[in-house]
Amino acid sequence: MFGALRPLQNRDGLRTIKFGSIAVPELPEVETTVGRIRPKLVRRHIAGIECSWRRTLCGSPATAARVLRGARIEAVGRRGKFVRIDTVRADATRVAVLIHLRMSGRLEVQPSSFARPAHTRLCVALDGGDELRFVDARKFGRVWVTREPEAVLGRVGVEPLSDGFTPDLLRCLLAGRSRVIKSVLLDQAVVAGLGNIYVDESLFRARLHPRMRSDRLSRRQCERLHRAIQSALRDGIAANGASIDWVYPGGSMQDRFAVYGRGGQPCPACQTAVVRMVVAQRGTHICPRCQRIRTGFSRGHRSTRNRRALRSNS
Ligand SMILES: [Zn+2]
Repeated sequence: MFGALRPLQNRDGLRTIKFGSIAVPELPEVETTVGRIRPKLVRRHIAGIECSWRRTLCGSPATAARVLRGARIEAVGRRGKFVRIDTVRADATRVAVLIHLRMSGRLEVQPSSFARPAHTRLCVALDGGDELRFVDARKFGRVWVTREPEAVLGRVGVEPLSDGFTPDLLRCLLAGRSRVIKSVLLDQAVVAGLGNIYVDESLFRARLHPRMRSDRLSRRQCERLHRAIQSALRDGIAANGASIDWVYPGGSMQDRFAVYGRGGQPCPACQTAVVRMVVAQRGTHICPRCQRIRTGFSRGHRSTRNRRALRSNS
């Protein structure tokens, strides 16, 4: 349904993604945002919170203002696609501010004397006169102020750049589901932080078709996919993310996409034209030559019994 929305105008002339389907910030874009705002927030005290679009804040604005007033910001981090700001109050209780940028949200730390950008939905006032401003043209972004962040983050899956994300774990996660692989990778409860862009890029790097069944991948294919996910995300972070519409003037990863948004253009590996299709209800880009549907056992003619034996041994 999001694909039917009219794309926003590019107001700043930046080279941005405009591919018909709407891209949203994913792990590298959120990580870039966190890296940008963290030095301006840590060790600051919160003076107040003001919400100009009621639905942006989940919960009562009065309660949020009361629990945050005077709290000191201890850490700014990321969990999946959430920005997480941890604070501690004078009575030593901890309160977290969780922010999901969703489609068009962005965060700015600016002097409160500066005019607020258009579409500013929520402001956190800081000591010294600055404000953390949540700007969100499409209003889908959400902010939580909570003493129990796990109530919001508890179902978020494994961090794909953490030590815990191993090829074996990925293989277990995929084997335990019988869905097309793209749909499993987009599921935030399975692997955190991947979205349409980095799933398409990872599957291309792993030479896997997005419609393959997740429980049909061989050990070797899982290892390739694991490497591909990590390298695509690390490249995205190194490029400061991808610039998305005009609302996320982040970085330059869009210049390095192999397939995403490149329908009709040559595959960087084999020069075959990249094809756009719909998989898991999402616009999806693949190289039809590099990403053929293959199971791990499709080479040669093996009997079903042999396949079962191979699978149980692999
Ligand atoms: Zn190719």
